[in-house]
Amino acid sequence: MALFERLYSQGHEEVVYFSDPTCNLKVIVAIHNTILGPALGGTRMWQYSSEEDALEDVLRLSKGMTYKAAVSGLNLGGGKAVIIGDPVKDKSEALFRSYGRFIESLNGRYITAEDVNIGVSDIDHIYTETNNVTGVDIAHGGSGNPSPWTALGVFRGIEASALKVFGDRSLDGKVVALQGAGSVGCYLGELLHKAGARIYFTDINEKNIERFKEAAPNAEFVGVNDIYDVECDIYAPCALGATVNDETIDRLKCKIVAGAANNQLKEPRHGDILRQKNILYAPDYLINAGGLMNVSIEFEGWTDAKARRMVDTIYDTTLKIFKISDEKDIPIYQATDFLAEERLRSIKAIKGSYLGNLGHRFPGRKNRHMH
Ligand code: NAD
Repeated sequence: MALFERLYSQGHEEVVYFSDPTCNLKVIVAIHNTILGPALGGTRMWQYSSEEDALEDVLRLSKGMTYKAAVSGLNLGGGKAVIIGDPVKDKSEALFRSYGRFIESLNGRYITAEDVNIGVSDIDHIYTETNNVTGVDIAHGGSGNPSPWTALGVFRGIEASALKVFGDRSLDGKVVALQGAGSVGCYLGELLHKAGARIYFTDINEKNIERFKEAAPNAEFVGVNDIYDVECDIYAPCALGATVNDETIDRLKCKIVAGAANNQLKEPRHGDILRQKNILYAPDYLINAGGLMNVSIEFEGWTDAKARRMVDTIYDTTLKIFKISDEKDIPIYQATDFLAEERLRSIKAIKGSYLGNLGHRFPGRKNRHMH
């Protein structure tokens, strides 16, 4: 498909390619939608096998950010960036500072943050050249690690799901099968443990397994492939996407699927199958939005209390989506998109009228008359 056809069909506003041969920088920034505010989304660094793959990834991810911000009630648009390169060999101060200067040239339309293979020290170099970056170190006035906030949001989503399925938000005595004891998984394990849940977990990384056992001492380890067969109330995917697929869906013995991983359903039809099986699926891009919520308050001055208040709203929004799903008799993944699209439509509509202050909008014209 030709590029503009592709952008039109998915609704992207802008795609920018930045290159700087002096430091080997190759980056694509995609701004999907700015109806609600500046496009915020992280930068991913990856050795893509082709430029086409990199473009495909950034288009898909930036659209996802529009929906995540919209459904979370944030005044942010959707954007994302990909740096094409080897994160082990190609990182340098010059590369990130050059990238920061390019971000600055977008004049605030795009704000970046961490994503896969981009850490706080890389963000600090970007921050040297532009203010349009979040996820900055707490020492420099930023909001630090987003993972505990993502975990808290997932925990709220699980509580809302428990209320819907069991009539009580308490997780005391509930059995959880948690896949992926990484940054988010480990914080989530700690919250679940404190709430009295019984946890079965899996991972492939020894260090993370040990750390998880310290965070949730009652948790029992199961094999990587056995996690789908655990008799449980809640399956919490916190490792990879697409784990609800043709191979796993008949093995799941849970009543709720709710976790941090992005794009848990391999295909939309797996959301339909979960519904037929009477398994409640918590909307993934809403319940894992705690990290985004956390960085979104960085510009107004981050505090722990503000972040907590915002992330706690995930509980009510999750319930609202369950209600839409029931009322409209549609699967939850469709109800989540519906809520996001409804907000985008309604906010776009109020921006239709002229607000006056011509001088402000065309300062050059005003100045000509003045001088
Ligand atoms: P992470 O890399 O710290 O943790 C992922 C964990 O999954 C690792 O411990 C890894 O060893 C494990 N893993 C990988 N393959 C596995 C397998 N086949 N079976 C079991 N475990 C496996 O990542 P994270 O930051 O904790 O993020 C977890 C998920 O949540 C990702 O899908 C990420 O995209 C999503 N997410 C994270 C955030 C955030 O704030 N970090 C925000 C939104 C969404």
